[in-house]
Amino acid sequence: MKHLLLTTFMTLSVLSGYSQGLLEKKENFTHQDTLRGTITPERAWWDLTYYHLDIEVFPETKTIKGTNTIRYKILERNGVMQIDLQEPMQITKVTQNGQRLYVKHDGNAHFVYLKRYQKVGNTEEIVVHYTGKPREAVRAPWDGGFSWKKDQNGNPFIATSCQGLGASVWWPCKDHMYDEVDSMDISVTVPKGLIDVSNGRLKSKVENPTTTTFNWEVKNPINNYGVNVNIGDYTHFSEVYQGEKGPLDMDYWVLSYNLDKAKEQFKQAPQMMEAFEHWFGPYPFYEDSFKLVEVPYLGMEHQSSVTYGNHYQNGYLGSDLSGTGWGLKFDFIIIHESGHEWFANNITNKDIADMWIHEGFTAYSENLFLDYFYGKKAASEYVIGTRRAVSNDKPIIGFYDVNKEGSGDMYYKGANMLHTLRQLIEDDEKWRQILRGLNKDFYHQTVTTKQVEDYLSEKTGYDLTEFFNQYLRDTRIPVLEYEVEGQQIKFRWTNVVENFDMPVIITYDGKKQWIYPKQDWRTAFIASDDVTIDPNFYIIPKKI
Ligand SMILES: [Zn+2]
Repeated sequence: MKHLLLTTFMTLSVLSGYSQGLLEKKENFTHQDTLRGTITPERAWWDLTYYHLDIEVFPETKTIKGTNTIRYKILERNGVMQIDLQEPMQITKVTQNGQRLYVKHDGNAHFVYLKRYQKVGNTEEIVVHYTGKPREAVRAPWDGGFSWKKDQNGNPFIATSCQGLGASVWWPCKDHMYDEVDSMDISVTVPKGLIDVSNGRLKSKVENPTTTTFNWEVKNPINNYGVNVNIGDYTHFSEVYQGEKGPLDMDYWVLSYNLDKAKEQFKQAPQMMEAFEHWFGPYPFYEDSFKLVEVPYLGMEHQSSVTYGNHYQNGYLGSDLSGTGWGLKFDFIIIHESGHEWFANNITNKDIADMWIHEGFTAYSENLFLDYFYGKKAASEYVIGTRRAVSNDKPIIGFYDVNKEGSGDMYYKGANMLHTLRQLIEDDEKWRQILRGLNKDFYHQTVTTKQVEDYLSEKTGYDLTEFFNQYLRDTRIPVLEYEVEGQQIKFRWTNVVENFDMPVIITYDGKKQWIYPKQDWRTAFIASDDVTIDPNFYIIPKKI
């Protein structure tokens, strides 16, 4: 995602209290939350293969109307299918092979009763017709929906954003992260004179009497919340980037009057591509191209059409999240949201409770961008600086099966956890190969935190079980108590989960030394009493 507005004294939890918003405080869950967040039997039996979302957008009335053709493969016998579409949007009709089907509505979940025999192994499709006035974004992108704005010239400037809330806020779909559609067509009809930019490549443009239809094609698996429409008085420029997998089309869609500013600011896009291909491997969607698309809100990781609203300036809306100055060396939205192409769009969480896989790695990617262009010291200073945004209010991992993410600490506590892991590995090339390996071995997949944790344990050769339990499932930051007496240092862990025993680097006389603290006191020999605990480890050193 999208990042939450931060200042030196605000933390990621400031948005608590926004209804339906991401990172909202919520501990009581309803039947509707369960329908939304669980792989229900009415979802489990079919595997999504293709969508054709075909809609017309009416800016005057702030309404949309259209169909979604849903193709699926039958995995098990069942005759009832769950489709999600949130109120006040309305499903008007569902058909299969031209036959109208009965639909039982349960709030935002709709159970379609199929008439045809659903033979295991076959591929079938249904067409969902729908219409309505979709929820208007209260504060996009955190509390999303449709943003119906105007540009400086008074032209409609419209965009969707729906992470957390769900794509079903504006189109009917299987709205659960675990099952990504394999490919998708998106057709959007808009009043003449306006342009729609969606995901993937523009296949065709059809002129109708008073409207224009833009047909976009996505050839790769895509998560629901990544699908978007962006409508405005756009102008376009492009370049071809010579990447790890060959030539990559990079396209930029901006408001006509921002063209000059965009041509300057978006020079960071190929730099981003260079740094992230180095660290994470090839951009995961060459077939669909890469795009930056200007929108009337801050930005979002919409797959292959990353949206941008950072006003053509460096930093996060002009400010440095880390307080070190390094955050002003890059445009936060270009770097962060594009980082999600690897972590969120390529490797996607199966359940939003594991959203740290998206945000922890992507917040971490910010310092890797700095590392690539400004060196390791700059990168360390930045990521350490972002610790001020950590609130340790609740665990990073959220609640499963109810569509509820964990603490906003998934960003910078997540980033600092990964930075700590890099220290433990003590081999930057190995660490880079692990990051690239994640993107290769989980290519275009949805995964659980367990899969990622096990992968990192296996590839690093350390049992990281307690390490992840500490940082992902507990709110405490490990305290390293130590005492120096002559040529001896005494140390132990406190404020930690059972069996936490992470080693740490200390320095004295410019020399590095590993120590191996446990939860009882241990000692080590040191040649000097002028000891520093390596600040790259996300722990609290406490000299006693
Ligand atoms: Zn993000």
